[in-house]
Amino acid sequence: MTGLNETHDPARKSWVDGANDPNSDFPIQNLPFGVFSLEGGPVHIGVAIGTRILDLTVLEEEGLIVPADHRVFDQGVLNPFMALPQNVWTRTRRQIADILDEANALSRAELNLVHRALVPMAAARMHLPIFVRSFTDFYASREHATNVGTMFRDPDNALMPNWLHIPIGYNGRATTVVVSDTDIHRPNGQLKGPNDAEPRFGPCQKLDIELELGAIVGTPNPLGQPVTAEEAYASIFGYVLLNDWSARDIQTWEYQPLGPFQSKAFATSISPWVVTREALEPFRKDAPERVKPLLPYLQETSPNNFDIEMVVELVPDGGKSSVISKTNYKYMYYSSALQMVHHASSGCAMETGDLLGSGTISGPTQDSFGSMLELSWNGRDPLKVDGGTRTFLEDGDTININGWCDGDYRIGFGNCAGKVLPAVNFRG
Ligand code: CA
Repeated sequence: MTGLNETHDPARKSWVDGANDPNSDFPIQNLPFGVFSLEGGPVHIGVAIGTRILDLTVLEEEGLIVPADHRVFDQGVLNPFMALPQNVWTRTRRQIADILDEANALSRAELNLVHRALVPMAAARMHLPIFVRSFTDFYASREHATNVGTMFRDPDNALMPNWLHIPIGYNGRATTVVVSDTDIHRPNGQLKGPNDAEPRFGPCQKLDIELELGAIVGTPNPLGQPVTAEEAYASIFGYVLLNDWSARDIQTWEYQPLGPFQSKAFATSISPWVVTREALEPFRKDAPERVKPLLPYLQETSPNNFDIEMVVELVPDGGKSSVISKTNYKYMYYSSALQMVHHASSGCAMETGDLLGSGTISGPTQDSFGSMLELSWNGRDPLKVDGGTRTFLEDGDTININGWCDGDYRIGFGNCAGKVLPAVNFRG
């Protein structure tokens, strides 16, 4: 179910600590889902609210929230819940909001239970929120595709002829999608500089980030059955911040003729809280104006982009944080819904737990580019960071990505972090 309802009412407040702080990512209008554990404890599913996590595994066990006739919050991943009908997502969101609303009176027994199910977020360890069924990565920012085409091909024909007609993508690795705060080893791979006679094997020298939004499919489409833009929009359960780590030197040598492979396969980080599509509903935006008309199957009849501010920070080992990029998801030429339409148009089955990377989100100005490749213009313009400069990432660097919608209240995604460790010693 799409559209606004009472869960989006800006007047609603929660009695939970920190939930009404205007700077909190997690007011009562957000209610993102995540997977967590406390020290030595089992892995549970929860919803972020203020400075706390509401433990849904406990509430389901005790019968306060019963989404289905079978347990769905006891599996340690969101997939069983995401596989339920969309009206169950809506009903559950309403129930959780009611439990946390300061205006709603709970019985003493219910209140005791809810207090027992509220745990401090600061004490929780977050886990990968979904079982990633498949990972497809797109290339949907016109600014990003133009920048990369300008650098590597031809400034006069920066966009490939198909780009304004097709949401371009490739099938990535689901196995190496990791949750925020997982350390990333610098990858080894085949490298060949423009003046080298032969390739060699060794650590990547141009380790990069890609600032992206990840869309998580909840409702599947059967094999052979395409979906409309409206169906695709509604099928997406929620969104996460996504850092698609990229090895530019490995990529340069391997990507012709079939596209990136090992240069992207080593790691993709996602933020731990899945912000639901329903929570983003008040922040929908129209796609940018079409340079060329899209084919009828790619026409959108409703705004499927979102107004999401995004910031990337780089923290050198032991140093201070510097903002290296500020952009907004609204610039994307192809929405996640359109990407799913195109993906399913051939009859490709999208499954519960499919992850669609938006592609690097670059804005129109150099400080809004979503990769170091573009920010440093392939090393030509080093970036100032604490204690020095960067063209690409060094060992020990940490990348933090944050994103939020700002309006009558703030819908935040939390942090998507990753630290670069040295390459493993492997002589291929
Ligand atoms: Ca990417």
